Amino acid sequence: MKIGITSTIPAEIVYAAGHVPCDLNNLFINDPDPGRFITLAEDEGFPRTTCAWIKGLYGVLQTVEIDTVIVVSGGDCSNTLALGEVLAHDGLRIIPFSYPLRPEPGPLKLALEELTRKLKAEPEQIAACKEKLDRCRRKLAEIDRLTWQDGKVRGRENLDFLVSASDFRGEPRAFLAEIENFLAQAKTRTARPRRLRLGLAGVPPILGNLCQTLENLGAELVFNEIPRQFAMPWAPDCDLVEQYLRYTYPYQVERRLDDITRACRERQLDGVIHYTQSFCFRQIEDILFKRRLPVPVLTLEADQPEAVDGRTLTRLETFIEMLAGAKEMPDWFIKT
Ligand code: SF4
Repeated sequence: MKIGITSTIPAEIVYAAGHVPCDLNNLFINDPDPGRFITLAEDEGFPRTTCAWIKGLYGVLQTVEIDTVIVVSGGDCSNTLALGEVLAHDGLRIIPFSYPLRPEPGPLKLALEELTRKLKAEPEQIAACKEKLDRCRRKLAEIDRLTWQDGKVRGRENLDFLVSASDFRGEPRAFLAEIENFLAQAKTRTARPRRLRLGLAGVPPILGNLCQTLENLGAELVFNEIPRQFAMPWAPDCDLVEQYLRYTYPYQVERRLDDITRACRERQLDGVIHYTQSFCFRQIEDILFKRRLPVPVLTLEADQPEAVDGRTLTRLETFIEMLAGAKEMPDWFIKT
C-alpha cells in the first residue's frame, strides 16, 4: 500500500511493514503545474495566508489514490496538525508520528515503537530494511562529498538526489541503481573551477530555478542543509534510534545552527542563503541564523511555486557581488 508522508519519518519502518512511503512534498513540487494543487486547496477553503506547501499537500491528495497518510504531529508545524485534521474529516486514515520535543533516546524509542506497532512491522524486517536504505545513504553521502570536496557534482544535482531520501522515490532498489549510475558518470567529470561557495539552509525552496540562478550568478551551492538531513549520511554508523536522534530538523534550531556552522567551516562556505517560506513560523528562527552563523546570511522568502522573480534576482546578485568583493574574487567569476 502506498502511504503518503508529510515530512521525513522513519521510512525504514514503512518499508519493513511492506508499504511504500510517498513524500507528498515531492509529488507537489515536481508536478509540471504545482500551482493547480494550491488552487484546489484554496477552493476548499484553505486561507491565502497559509503556507503553500500545506496547500500543495492537500491538493495533491485530491488527485492521487492514497488513503493513508503519516502526518508528523510533533517536530514539524501546527499547520501540518490542522492539515491532518481536515484530511481525517475527508475520510483518510491518518497515522500521527511525533518526534519528541527534545532529542532524547527514551521518548524517541517509544515513538519508533508506536509507529512499528501501528504499521505492524517486525523488528527483523526493520533491521533488514535499514541495511538496504543505508546502502543508498552511503552513496548519497558520496554524492555530497563529490559536491563540496571534488567539485564534480552541481548544487542542484546534489539537492535532487539528497531530497529524495525522504521516501527513496518509492523504489529503493531502482533509486540505488540510479545513484550508482550517476556516481560512475560524475566521477569521470573534470572538477569545476573553484567559485564562490554557498550553503542553502531552511526548508526546501519552492522556487524551482533557485539553484540554477545561483549557478548563473557565479556561485556554487556546496551545502544543502535539509536535503542532507533527509539523506542522513551518519545512519550506517548507528542504530535507528540514534539515526533519528541525530536528525536535526524536528528539534530545537540550535542543533541545526551547530550543524550549519560545522558545514561553514568544513566546506569553507563564503555565505549562507536562508530560505524561508511565506507564512511559516520558521521565519522567526532567521533572527538566530543571522546572530549565530559565522558567515554572511541572506534571507530569501518566497510564497508560490514559481521562478525567481526580478526582485529576488537583484538581492541574490547584490549578495554574491558583496561576497565576491569581500574575497576580492576576479571579475571573470561573476555571471559566467
Ligand atoms: S514551510 Fe513551515 S509552515 Fe510550511 S509546512 Fe513547512 S514548517 Fe510548516
